Amino acid sequence: MKVKNVKAYGTKAADASLKAMDINRREVTAKDVEIDILYCGVCHSDLHFARNDWGFSVYPVVPGHEIVGKVVKVGEGVTKYKAGDVVAVGCLVDSCRSCNNCKNDLEQYCPEWVGTYGGHDKHLNLPTFGGYSESIVVDEHFVLKVPKNLDLAAIAPVLCAGITTWSPLRHWKVGKGSKVAVVGLGGLGHMAIKLADALGAHVTLFSRSPDKKQDAMDLGADAVVISTDEEQMKSIQNHFDLIIDTVPYAHDINPYVGTLNTNGTLVLVGYLGPLDPILHTVPMIMGRRSVAGSLIGGIAETQELLDFCGKHNIVSEIEVIKIQDINEAYARMLKSDVHYRFVIDMKSLKN
Ligand code: NAP
Ligand code: ZN
Ligand code: ZN
Repeated sequence: MKVKNVKAYGTKAADASLKAMDINRREVTAKDVEIDILYCGVCHSDLHFARNDWGFSVYPVVPGHEIVGKVVKVGEGVTKYKAGDVVAVGCLVDSCRSCNNCKNDLEQYCPEWVGTYGGHDKHLNLPTFGGYSESIVVDEHFVLKVPKNLDLAAIAPVLCAGITTWSPLRHWKVGKGSKVAVVGLGGLGHMAIKLADALGAHVTLFSRSPDKKQDAMDLGADAVVISTDEEQMKSIQNHFDLIIDTVPYAHDINPYVGTLNTNGTLVLVGYLGPLDPILHTVPMIMGRRSVAGSLIGGIAETQELLDFCGKHNIVSEIEVIKIQDINEAYARMLKSDVHYRFVIDMKSLKN
């Protein structure tokens, strides 16, 4: 198979900074679309993967799965896209296409799903490399249409932060009057507030950061509860239909479970790993409350979200950075100092 050398930014080890490197991309095959990357969002998962927080990173790592770009070339079997189209790619670039999850538009739960980075490129027999790069080659099934009315940099985070919070909002049927809470105001959290608000829910933010209160209200929250304030936490019990917990590290989820109403669900989307402290079952059993998890969203659902954002004029709140600033951006992300998503202007990689 023919390959092409492409400029990228990544790391060769968990404890090394990200820096410029060259990677190989395949030349387009029949169903492939080659995309020149314009913008790439910076997800906390990029940082987890670059640093091997989850223990399954394969190096070199080129992160980035919130990609917006322009089609430059298509394979002869491509029907959905042509050169010049503005398109997007999220966290998935392949799956088996034949299991029940694939047939039901749940490619993210396919046992053979291929992540945009750190997955396995079956064409090249190499790890997949993400969007911190000049260009990417993706099967058209995993390429998305971008609404024409939205800012191209600010729409990028919808591809992961957006869909990861949209999918549980839709699965748990959030609508007018639903009582929704979001834990953590970062990339995922701020999209969760905007999307739940647009669906007509009453939205509460749980945050450790009192200085984010006004921002949360401006984003569409109706209330803010400071999670480190025991009195405030106790004042809200038996209330929420759905809580979306976006916190990236082990934390005590027990105080949140009691704030769920009967039949309510707390869905973990942030932290991957064993809970510490462990989960207490009493509030679950005494109120038929659930604790669940959710992973990104399928391709059809991601397109549904992009179209919804186009219709409701929803984009992410972003700070545009150069690729050369990525290590500093990661350091700020670790301090929860992101307002509320970094997006890399990929032009900077060409310089
Ligand atoms: P982010 O922008 O860094 O936001 C995380 C927020 O969580 C922070 O702003 C902070 O909000 C709160 N927080 C951070 N550390 C905390 C701690 N130790 N204890 C309590 N609260 C803490 O991160 P993100 O990009 O939104 O990603 C969040 C998590 O979701 C990451 O772990 C990422 O890997 C994961 N993720 C999962 C999926 C999925 O499919 N399930 C998809 C994408 C990302 P406050 O200051 O308001 O407290
Ligand atoms: Zn992500
Ligand atoms: Zn499958």
